[in-house]
Amino acid sequence: MTVRTRFAPSPTGYLHLGGLRTALYTYLFAKKNGGKFILRIEDTDQEREVPGAVELIYKSLREAGLEYDEGPDVGGDYGPYIQTQRRDTYLPYAMQLVQSGAAYPCFCTKEELQARRDAATARGEQWKYDKHCLSIPRDEALRRMQSGEPFVIRQNVPLTGTASFEDALYGHVEAACETLDDNVLIKADGLPTYNFANVIDDHLMGITHVMRGTEYLSSAPKYNLLYEALGWEPPVYIHLSPVMKDSTRKLSKRHGDPSFEDLLAQGYVRDAIINFIALLGWSPGDEREFFTLEELVEAFDLKGLSKAPAIFNTEKLVWFNHEYITRMPFEEYLAMATPWFDRALAGKNIDYRRLAELMHTRTEVFDRVPDMVRFLAELPPYSLELYTHKKMKTDGAVALRALELARPALWALEDFGEDAVKDCLMALAAQNGLKTGQMMWPVRVALSGQASTPGGATEIAYLLGKDESLRRVDIALERLRTAPEAVSSNSPS
Ligand code: GLU
Repeated sequence: MTVRTRFAPSPTGYLHLGGLRTALYTYLFAKKNGGKFILRIEDTDQEREVPGAVELIYKSLREAGLEYDEGPDVGGDYGPYIQTQRRDTYLPYAMQLVQSGAAYPCFCTKEELQARRDAATARGEQWKYDKHCLSIPRDEALRRMQSGEPFVIRQNVPLTGTASFEDALYGHVEAACETLDDNVLIKADGLPTYNFANVIDDHLMGITHVMRGTEYLSSAPKYNLLYEALGWEPPVYIHLSPVMKDSTRKLSKRHGDPSFEDLLAQGYVRDAIINFIALLGWSPGDEREFFTLEELVEAFDLKGLSKAPAIFNTEKLVWFNHEYITRMPFEEYLAMATPWFDRALAGKNIDYRRLAELMHTRTEVFDRVPDMVRFLAELPPYSLELYTHKKMKTDGAVALRALELARPALWALEDFGEDAVKDCLMALAAQNGLKTGQMMWPVRVALSGQASTPGGATEIAYLLGKDESLRRVDIALERLRTAPEAVSSNSPS
């Protein structure tokens, strides 16, 4: 048996992260078993379709590295792979079920259904379809269908007994038939509902293993009744625990949780996202944390799946991302960082290569980069209190003295490279009885206006260049000289 799995998204918007995880596991399971991974677009609920969503699914799966063997835009022997392009496929199977009594046409109008639903609710009953049209003699029903009267086809769930299936993760899942509704299989517009199309297509496409969210767990017994009625072998079902934002709510785009595309746009690295997503609800059974896609294929095993809801921990994702960025070759980092540098520094004459060296291991997520480097484009407003630093043994008075010494020395430098700046400042400090920090800290604050910077005083001086560095030192001197309280509040130690 060749394993065939499918990812079957509905084109209702972005690929959310729960969907990406389903796609990933589905892909991993197929590849692990030497099988085929198929993409099927489930677009029979046309009202929910979002324009462009199908193309976005193709794009996202490619970006994620989840190449499908068969699908709408790659072809395959079981196409078409878009359900609306298969619209003529479903009715004959529904009619077969009508003939055998496992389904029946229903002519109830919306208004009639609403009235009976309201009445049931008023009686305090939970509404489910009351099999009203099941009593119509089959000949009459067929005649009415042919006459053009609007109809749907409903599944005829037995009134008693149970329906069940085996899930690879959840085991035996059973439902009492009396609790199950006679779902619509074919809608008035002739298209199948999900409830029907998933069964027909999974069978016709030779799908052997179905992985999908637990939201389908309770409907699956009903699908099994359809398999039985059609005389087909059901696939192996593996329902996946939900991905949660926290202990109470599922991750959802509607609540502003990011989609895969959002994460990429924010500067998360593809491989870090995939690695992180893979571990949301699956574990390799050992301590390993880092996996390439190939390694995931190798390690993936249904035994590692968890039934417990997985919590999407953003900090953990950031941690993974930082690790991936740190391990990435420098040239790759430079290429990825450049557009983010541009956001803050476009038009400035800054040595990106040097900046990238300083930023490489400090970058957690790329969208944080512009704020980290913006001080190079523009000196931010800062408080003179920044000059007070206990460990560096500086305060405003020390800073004023250090900067007064540094100003002419830097001005006199011809070579403004890092080594030259460093040698100059160190020598100056030593000659004047200042500790290194008492020179470097004030210069760094004067040049950057902030306490935390990529690189220290000499790196920043080099990146800014001589003119801009001197301009910033002058600003600092001017401010310190005109703020006596800043230079007198603490005595230098
Ligand atoms: N079209 C369904 C969805 O997007 C897929 C469910 C399934 O995989 O069977 O939720």
